[in-house]
Amino acid sequence: MPLLQKVKIAIARRRLTSLNMKGDANPLEEWIHGKVRAEVKNSREFREATGGLERVSRDDLREFQLHRLRRQMAYVIENSYYYKKKYEAAGIRPEDIRTWEDLERIPLTDPADLAAEPLTFLCVSQSKVMRAFTTSGTSGTRKRLFYTQNDVLNIVDSISAALRSVGMSGKDNLQIMFPAVSAWDPGLMLDGACKVAGLNSTVCSSVDVDEQIRTMRENDTKVMIGLTSFLYRITLLARDRYDLKGFGMKAIICSAEPLPEAMRREMRAAWGCKILSQYGMTEMGLATAIECEAADGLHMNEADFLAEVIDPQTGKHLPDRTPGELVFTSLSMEGTPLIRYRTRDISFLIEPPCNCDFVTIGKMGKVQGRMDAQTKIGYGQKIFPVLFDEVLLSISGVMSYRLTLDREGYRDLLTFTVEVQGDHDGAKERVLEALKGLDEIREPLENDLILEPVIELVEGGSVAFAPKSKVIEDRRKNYDRQAKGS
Ligand SMILES: [Zn+2]
Repeated sequence: MPLLQKVKIAIARRRLTSLNMKGDANPLEEWIHGKVRAEVKNSREFREATGGLERVSRDDLREFQLHRLRRQMAYVIENSYYYKKKYEAAGIRPEDIRTWEDLERIPLTDPADLAAEPLTFLCVSQSKVMRAFTTSGTSGTRKRLFYTQNDVLNIVDSISAALRSVGMSGKDNLQIMFPAVSAWDPGLMLDGACKVAGLNSTVCSSVDVDEQIRTMRENDTKVMIGLTSFLYRITLLARDRYDLKGFGMKAIICSAEPLPEAMRREMRAAWGCKILSQYGMTEMGLATAIECEAADGLHMNEADFLAEVIDPQTGKHLPDRTPGELVFTSLSMEGTPLIRYRTRDISFLIEPPCNCDFVTIGKMGKVQGRMDAQTKIGYGQKIFPVLFDEVLLSISGVMSYRLTLDREGYRDLLTFTVEVQGDHDGAKERVLEALKGLDEIREPLENDLILEPVIELVEGGSVAFAPKSKVIEDRRKNYDRQAKGS
């Protein structure tokens, strides 16, 4: 490692509070409390509001979040063109927000606005941007996010805290298993975070199961993190050929996709360790919430994020354990802070205490579904009706199509029912060829993550019209419970 880089890492490390986490019962909770206590030191307003803090209670944490939110609102009004105009139009000021109920008065932030005009969200000069990331999706839905050095260090710190909370120590290796390397690569970010935080990590993106197992052996991997369906695939392919329990894994963290209970059971039986689900989104940095051993929801990093669940129609808060749209506010971002950002994910909130002994940190339930027609196949490729419209409807005679998603073993099965008018000769081949021209289909097919798509032709005019949102029917058991009213 070049000397300069070493020095920089040493400087960065001094600012990571996760390195002071002790191995007591609930280190993650202590880490979050540490951030609240730091605020008592740094902010007179907060100190006076709480009268200093001996122990951090649930109410103190809520008070801390509202305090940070007011500060964040003032910051975006000052620095972001989007929020300045939005809040002026709504006639809302930071000092108006005193209680949890007051949050409902702040207008929501729509992901489409961020996709359309990312620069109006940017709060710092371009020279202060350390990294910019673009989320996956079509050009119309891609979002550009900007992170400052402080933002990146904060993300590193939260990743390190989450890994230590699942029992990872300085001697263990983390194997990072995301099968695709993309522009916003969570694997590379995780790897970088581990290096800075003094944890060992190895990136292995190979879809070859033997190579994954070899990498585990050579590096003495004790914790795995990766795309849920990919970890499941490796498990099914390896369990009959290798003694997986012999690895002595401490934890497997399933990321970026939901973790159905059926998958968890199979994986736990194969590896003999805890299988945990993690939730994060690019818009909020990576590590937003992680499951504990109680397996009843994911503990959120409430020092850096404030989560609400609302009725998507009325915008009103929903009570504990009632599913609705998840809305996040980043409490410490500098580059692209988002306030009351609509995630389109359906989940619910769970108030503490938790069976794992956390007494002050709130949880979010496992995500139960998405509000738009977008879904994921293979190794996380996003698919949505517009994607197929472009290639299928341009084939002569094709009037409409429907897609049904099923799962066979670890692979997704895509069945396209295509409505064709007139001559059917060669239509099947043309449809299949057009589909294979899409990266979203070709890549997972080449990597053995989906089966060859099945094409069924039906006579033009023989099927009822279906609105765009109903064109894709997902029959895979990705979610354990279907959300109410969605
Ligand atoms: Zn817990």
